[in-house]
Amino acid sequence: MKEKTVKSDDQWKRALTAEEYRILRKKETETAFTGELLNNKRNGTYVCAGCGNPLFYSDTKFDSGSGWPSFYKPVSEESVDRKVDRHMFVERTEVLCEKCGGHLGHVFDDGPEPTGLRYCINSGALHFEDDKEHAEEREVTKR
Ligand code: FE
Repeated sequence: MKEKTVKSDDQWKRALTAEEYRILRKKETETAFTGELLNNKRNGTYVCAGCGNPLFYSDTKFDSGSGWPSFYKPVSEESVDRKVDRHMFVERTEVLCEKCGGHLGHVFDDGPEPTGLRYCINSGALHFEDDKEHAEEREVTKR
């Protein structure tokens, strides 16, 4: 089992930007079409803004038209947790970082092949790392 990142609310507040804290720790959602990484098309890895856990590879990112960065698959089944969310009377599946428990967004079943899933993720919950740092892991996962 991977090591978890555990911090108190105060420590998170100090470690994160106001926007990151609002999303990751308070489960809020950024305004559609405002996220910095929405139209990012570079090759690399999207990691958790809270703890650096690799979450999504750029080659699984697609343009969903929703206004939030969208991916059809996480780095691995262990990189994210899914939890039923009944907020606002609608049942949705929340997506959280497996390592720090931070709120990332939601997953829907209207995504493209090969998974049919759409991970709808707040840009503010992510940091982007260019390809070289994760090149080897990417090759292993693609096989
Ligand atoms: Fe995290």
